[in-house]
Amino acid sequence: MDLVIHKYGGTSVADAEKIASVARKIGQVRDSGRSIVAVASAMGDTTDELIDLAHTVADEPDPRELDLLLSTGELVSCTLLTMALRSLGYDAITLSGFQAGIRTDDMYGKARIFSIDPARVQSELSDGKVVIVAGFQGITEDMDITTLGRGGSDTTAVALAAALNATRCDIYTDVDGIYTADPRIVPNARKLAEIGYEEMLELASYGAKMHPRSIELGEANDVPIYVASSFGDAPGTLIHRVEKVKELENRVKVTGIAYQANIAKITVRSLPDRPGIAAALFEPLAARGINVDTIVQNTSLERITDISFTVNRSDLAQAHAEVQALLSRLGGTEVISDPTLASVHVVGSGMQNTPGYASRMFRILAEGNINIDMITTSEIRISCIIKEDQVADAVRLLHEGFQLGEED
Ligand code: ASP
Ligand code: MG
Repeated sequence: MDLVIHKYGGTSVADAEKIASVARKIGQVRDSGRSIVAVASAMGDTTDELIDLAHTVADEPDPRELDLLLSTGELVSCTLLTMALRSLGYDAITLSGFQAGIRTDDMYGKARIFSIDPARVQSELSDGKVVIVAGFQGITEDMDITTLGRGGSDTTAVALAAALNATRCDIYTDVDGIYTADPRIVPNARKLAEIGYEEMLELASYGAKMHPRSIELGEANDVPIYVASSFGDAPGTLIHRVEKVKELENRVKVTGIAYQANIAKITVRSLPDRPGIAAALFEPLAARGINVDTIVQNTSLERITDISFTVNRSDLAQAHAEVQALLSRLGGTEVISDPTLASVHVVGSGMQNTPGYASRMFRILAEGNINIDMITTSEIRISCIIKEDQVADAVRLLHEGFQLGEED
């Protein structure tokens, strides 16, 4: 039987009425004779509220306890969704991440799925049940509950689609697709009918609201991901393997502008320029699961150099303390941080091997009087770190400058 995978975000299950409407939508799939597994996030802002609650009793909540706490958010939304389905007459069952066979490493708060044993899900499906799986969570080898990082339910859904050999994974959310820029900032942003995994990965890593790991998993397992609104019937965006020919046709085009707020920069001053220094600086951060993004090391004058890198603002205190503790061993003089930054990104596979995009981006920012703090590039992305209070302007200017808007 045809198997459909749906994922519903937190806003789609924010209250009883919305849960009932999601239940009806799932019911329609069932009525058409197909099997369905649906993954849901926690209701509305539940996860934020649980995090705040944890901080009312501890400055630094224990990571294991915090994950166990956060995993309850998805249990609430999913059990309610199952109850709603049952009251509509559909046979349905909720499975926690654990019950659905989702195994992860033990990096609390940002665990990675390493395997899924789909046996239980399959047996419930073959009993004719709708299976509702709690998103965002899994279990370690030691049977401890983990969470997959904010927004991680997308990844649960795509991983399940891969494990169950589904032909597609549908992500229903509060936006109706992937746009050339955030429509809240750029009113004439255009919805994309399709986008390749690589471009989407760049957009998702730097702004468009999807868990980046879900795109990686989709690409690795060849699962097309369809992003659409849970509220209307407007066509969404298909994230899939875009044929090379089409990419070539798009050569002249940038695909989208992404941004990310809440960035902090750490600079380590006057490090000796010798082998092993960068490794000694970044290994301890990696071991603590701190994600380091942009890294810039200056060319050294007199064998002394500065290294700057960015982290998520929420990791700044921990990262700064970690680097401060390493400072004398590294031989540096000072650690400085700046928490007021953001990043803006021009993304498009059309930029590969084509000169001129970077300079155009810098010119557009210069004309907007926006200072660039750091610059990095990948084959299909150019990124600038700028002041956070200028990021909305930067996105608007770049969207206009690269002519991404609707024609009219
Ligand atoms: N509820 C979790 C969060 O808010 C996971 C998710 O929404 O996908 O981050
Ligand atoms: Mg959420």
